[in-house]
Amino acid sequence: MASAPSSDDMFDQFLSQRGHDVETAAWEENYNKKQCPDCGGLHDDAATECSVCGWTPVN
Ligand SMILES: [Zn+2]
Repeated sequence: MASAPSSDDMFDQFLSQRGHDVETAAWEENYNKKQCPDCGGLHDDAATECSVCGWTPVN
């Protein structure tokens, strides 16, 4: 979906900022580790944010 029109990206950002999260709002789990749903980075269970891309779960 990287080729999606930029207007769609802006609309998604607008929705996210309004609190209507259109993307995954929680960690994925992979091999008993937390996996960032945004970049796929693996983190220890104590992680509160992705140190790779800066993603944080929406609570
Ligand atoms: Zn990440």
